[in-house]
Amino acid sequence: METTAGTTPSRPRRTLATEAVHAGREDLAALGVHAVPLDLSTTYPSSDSRAEARRIDAFAATGGRLEGPPVYARLDNPTTARFEDALARLEGTETAVAFASGMAALTACLLARSAAGLRHVVAVRPLYGSSDHLLTAGLLGTEVTWTDPAGIADAIRPDTGLVIVETPANPTLAEVDLRAVAHSCGTVPLLADNTFATPVLQRPAESGARIVLHSATKYLGGHGDVLAGVVACDEEFAGALRQVRFATGGVLHPLSGYLLLRGLSTLPVRMRAASATAAELARRLAADPRVGAVHYPQIGGAMVAFEVLGDPHAVIGGVRLITPAVSLGSVDTLIQHPASISHRVVPEAERSRSGVSEKLLRLSVGLEDVDDLWSDLSLALASPDSTRASTPGFRTPAEGGRSFA
Ligand SMILES: *Cc1c(COP(=O)(O)O)cnc(C)c1O
Repeated sequence: METTAGTTPSRPRRTLATEAVHAGREDLAALGVHAVPLDLSTTYPSSDSRAEARRIDAFAATGGRLEGPPVYARLDNPTTARFEDALARLEGTETAVAFASGMAALTACLLARSAAGLRHVVAVRPLYGSSDHLLTAGLLGTEVTWTDPAGIADAIRPDTGLVIVETPANPTLAEVDLRAVAHSCGTVPLLADNTFATPVLQRPAESGARIVLHSATKYLGGHGDVLAGVVACDEEFAGALRQVRFATGGVLHPLSGYLLLRGLSTLPVRMRAASATAAELARRLAADPRVGAVHYPQIGGAMVAFEVLGDPHAVIGGVRLITPAVSLGSVDTLIQHPASISHRVVPEAERSRSGVSEKLLRLSVGLEDVDDLWSDLSLALASPDSTRASTPGFRTPAEGGRSFA
């Protein structure tokens, strides 16, 4: 998994920051270019249709990447493949498969297991609102058992195809112990949604997750202009995913693949800078009498969730610098009210049971100056509805958790 074309086994393992800049680009100098070639082809000419037939048969058998040109753009794309290779290197998996969105990626994972007759899913709340909805609605013919991490082993049945967790979870930032959960899964593949942490803070495959899913729309793209998903995994599961992607068509546009590879090169720098600001904002929020509780992950990160004592809608309406919008992971700071927006599709009782209260706000911290952000947040918190509180709850990253590396 460390070796790719052009890498010799004797070459020392590179750090994440170096991989982020160079992975997926090793052949550029030999090609005589510096920027990644963007291939927008939907079809690929070949005069040898016997050879094409053999390549298509090989794909149908294993879902392995085609040798040579992709035949048709729903099978593969060389620009997107560079992003897939780079993300796999960062996550420490054999390979990765990109999709048109995070939801398309999750859909492909569910369909790949259903196609193998394994329609039952065990999942831990909270999950991203649409992921919760996709499972709860059973749109894909799957059946879900919701449990907490301690209940996973008991919830697993002979037809269980996946165990799904998010850590830190959207939007409460609740964390699960991936190593313990992976142990509870036994032979059932564990899917960890690593959107919030990114491989900069956490590499779930090292803790036993077989499938690592990202909404690449968030930190991997990093600039709010790409909708994408990606699954980092072993070659065997990737084969099933590529076959589902080919059959269902949830492919990524090559320009998005290009932008995502560019986004990866600054991912470690962006994550570290935004995380430092987020940790400081979490500290200031925890000391603020207008705030009832602050949730900040032990592993760190650029997301902060907090419960206000006053009207959360007044805070959303009151920000001027911070962008009042759903989504996360961009260079600018975003704030949203999960109960109204990102988790609106989750039934109210389940929302509050999993900690998504009406008072909760979710902040995605960007790259602005911390004092400018605090001024804006503090003014927005000074709504007429604000009341005073005395006991803010707050866990610092130092209390039992490792901070970002
Ligand atoms: C946004 C998000 C998704 C869905 O991704 P899209 O790219 O919007 O389809 C899945 N999981 C998490 C944790 C997310 O934040």
